[in-house]
Amino acid sequence: MIEISVIVPTYNEEGNLDLLHTRLSEVMQRIGQPYELIFINDGSKDRTLELERALAQKDPCVKYIDLSRNFGHQIAVSAGLDAARGQAIVIIDADLQDPPELIIDMYAKLRTGFHVVYAKRKARQGENFMKKFTAKLFYRLLSRITSFSIPVDTGDFRIMDKKVVDALKQMPESNKFLRGQIAWIGFNQTFVEYDRQQRHAGTTGYTYKKMINFALNGITAFSNAPIKWVTMAGFMVSVVAFLMIIMSFVVRIFYAHLSEPGWASIMVGMMFLGGVQLISLGIIGEYISRINSDVKRRPLYFVKETNVSSEI
Ligand code: UDP
Ligand code: MG
Repeated sequence: MIEISVIVPTYNEEGNLDLLHTRLSEVMQRIGQPYELIFINDGSKDRTLELERALAQKDPCVKYIDLSRNFGHQIAVSAGLDAARGQAIVIIDADLQDPPELIIDMYAKLRTGFHVVYAKRKARQGENFMKKFTAKLFYRLLSRITSFSIPVDTGDFRIMDKKVVDALKQMPESNKFLRGQIAWIGFNQTFVEYDRQQRHAGTTGYTYKKMINFALNGITAFSNAPIKWVTMAGFMVSVVAFLMIIMSFVVRIFYAHLSEPGWASIMVGMMFLGGVQLISLGIIGEYISRINSDVKRRPLYFVKETNVSSEI
């Protein structure tokens, strides 16, 4: 019977795996419960898989799952959740930005009666201004437009009770935003604070494109506010247009000498309406594309190779 499963999504992490394995194993030994470390290789282009195989060879606690290609961080974690058999499940990044030692506190807190203990960042080191700024902005925006509270300044580094993971597995959406889903699930949740470290080695696998997509997943999965903004904008523009119609009548009738047919006003009106319409269509499109991907009901990922027995 496994007590703790640690899920580690990995994408080009050859420089971090050995140290991560050492530090995680130390932490697990200090906790002293039966555990498993599940590494998910998310289509890495370096020696990540090779190193994971080697770790599994020498350490029976190590499991690895090699996905058939790069599916992205959230799906890699989902693959780990499907394979995890522990009573408590940890999600941690492979780059040592999340200190493994914190798991000791998180586990202790979980056992005092919580179902989720997430790690809240006090400070973030070694990340550029843009990343920190956009992340801050995003989490604040998201918490304003959702009807339940998604904790700000937290990543996926957390420990969860099996109950929560079972609930999570019943949420089949293919555009994953795990931290939002977990907040939405409820139960007793709390946090511990930590300073986020620099990456130990390698570079971030989260490109701006992936980040924007991730942010849009979060917003569209948990809020209809953008659609409401569109409706509001539509009303506002209509009111302005209506006033302008009245105004042009007034000008035409009472100030005929001023009513030169004006290119400028026509152009401004057209551009403005065109812009609002395109934004609106775009927002609606974002929602529809997600509906589209959910109705296809494709499997989230495929496994190419693993040493996890049977169930996946
Ligand atoms: N990761 C992944 N698939 C990806 C990108 C990242 O499995 O497509 C993993 C990566 O190996 C790391 C974690 O997700 O363990 C967080 O990624 P990263 O450190 O690149 O993101 P950042 O910390 O810069 O947000
Ligand atoms: Mg990182």
